[in-house]
Amino acid sequence: MKEKVVIIGGGVAGLSAGIYAAKNGFDTEILEMHSVAGGQCTAWERNRFRFDYCLHWLVGTSKGAFHDIWKETNVLNDRTEIIDHEIHSQIIDGEGNTFIIYADIDRWERYLLGIAPEDEVPIRRMCKTMRKSAFLEPFALPPELRSPLDYIRIMPKFFPLFQVVRKYGRLTCREYFDRLHFKSPRIRSALYTMYGERNFSAMAFIFMLAWFNQKNAGYIKGGSYPLAQRMVERFTSLGGAISYRKRVEKITVENGMVRGVVLADGTSIAADYVISAADGYSTIYSMLGGKYVTKAFDHAHKNWELFPPLVQVSFGIGREVLSEAPIVLNFTKGMSIGSTRLEFGYSLMNYSYDSTMAPEGKTTMVMRFETQWDLWKDLEGDAYRAEKEQILKDATACLETIYPGISGFIEATDVATPKTDVRFTGVRNGAYEGFMPTRENMMKSLKMQLPGLRNFYMAGQWLVPGGGLPPSAQTGKWAVQLICRKKKQEFKS
Ligand SMILES: Cc1cc2nc3c(=O)[nH]c(=O)nc-3n(C[C@H](O)[C@H](O)[C@H](O)COP(=O)(O)OP(=O)(O)OC[C@H]3O[C@@H](n4cnc5c(N)ncnc54)[C@H](O)[C@@H]3O)c2cc1C
Repeated sequence: MKEKVVIIGGGVAGLSAGIYAAKNGFDTEILEMHSVAGGQCTAWERNRFRFDYCLHWLVGTSKGAFHDIWKETNVLNDRTEIIDHEIHSQIIDGEGNTFIIYADIDRWERYLLGIAPEDEVPIRRMCKTMRKSAFLEPFALPPELRSPLDYIRIMPKFFPLFQVVRKYGRLTCREYFDRLHFKSPRIRSALYTMYGERNFSAMAFIFMLAWFNQKNAGYIKGGSYPLAQRMVERFTSLGGAISYRKRVEKITVENGMVRGVVLADGTSIAADYVISAADGYSTIYSMLGGKYVTKAFDHAHKNWELFPPLVQVSFGIGREVLSEAPIVLNFTKGMSIGSTRLEFGYSLMNYSYDSTMAPEGKTTMVMRFETQWDLWKDLEGDAYRAEKEQILKDATACLETIYPGISGFIEATDVATPKTDVRFTGVRNGAYEGFMPTRENMMKSLKMQLPGLRNFYMAGQWLVPGGGLPPSAQTGKWAVQLICRKKKQEFKS
């Protein structure tokens, strides 16, 4: 008899755990509460336009430990097409000023020197740091399985980075930009508006641009939905079972050993191992009844900042609208959309670079802005519908400012709110990437196992501040590596 692994949640973390568990010979079942797999990594269609909710960059499209995972889980295969954008993003500010962040650091450096020769020293210093940071490679093994040799092996690669981490590891973006002393109002305004007004880790900013520079953070044609479906295909082809509309309410434990789960409809499912790849807070405090809360979890959930929730307004445009930049960030001051005052403007993604997103000759555009969970948590019924209608009107007016006359070509629209996200994925307060990477937690992560609870593992974005698809998939793999180690069984990837 094969031992049974039950996985709670069929997001990217759960699918990854499922694939590795099935590959390693376990009888594997994923229980997903929604009617479709993928979790946050999803998309939906309206009038033949596809509105993507997640993917715009994927770390590991060309190399490294994440790349191995993407190949092993069928996220990348011979047929997937990777698009490396030349422009990371373009910033506009409502006063006619534009600012571009190029994916290629050399090109960005030339651009910055062109607009602010007086800032040659800080520009060169910042770009040099980003080039050096490209050497960062994630560990392939979970901390519990690393030997001293693994740490020694990465030393030569880590050495150039050591100074960067020592100098900037605990700085916010604002502190980092302050230290660089940019003089140019155009550079200051763009960088400070984009990253400087919040507790966002300087290292996260530096690494992000370093990965782009290496062409190791591309976009995969087709986006989020086909990505998740490729993982489902790999999982089921290995013999794994995935059940939809199965909400786990409780994890059963006897004598400190996990025994299975109980679904919302009262069904009990027995398991030898349970991996929760669902929302971290509800796993610990609700499914496990708050009995195995470690100090670290308690501290994180009480003190670490969450990503603010998002509103996404999607538009299907009945004509081709090309854009040089895949993302335009509008930081015009004093804007509101619906009841949300836009502290950090909005982003507008033009998917004209991906022909699968809209019918031929047409274009999908997606606008996102951050909001506050408090505005949404009690909004129901008519008030909720009225807010969505107002958002659509205001967002359409914003779209008009970037593409005058476009309203007449809108053929499909959709408004997804933080409540949509919570309803379909269970993510706490709509914090779509879990904990914000701040200077306090940037170098930290939470443990996948809980003291006093055997055969239970956690996976997913809530273990690693900053979240995202790579750590979600990697912790799924790690959970199975830990199970194999416990059984003294060789792990197959
Ligand atoms: C707008 C947006 C843009 C993003 N852009 C990027 C990007 O470009 N690159 C990137 O790397 N990341 C991006 N992310 C982040 C990325 O999508 C997430 O970090 C990642 O998908 C999280 O995966 P996960 O499996 O850990 O969690 P989730 O995706 O939240 O999956 C959890 C799953 O568990 C299920 N579940 C929850 N509770 C239960 C229960 N009780 N019983 C059964 N099932 C349950 C949910 O339905 C869900 O399917 C983006 C996210 C958003 C929302």
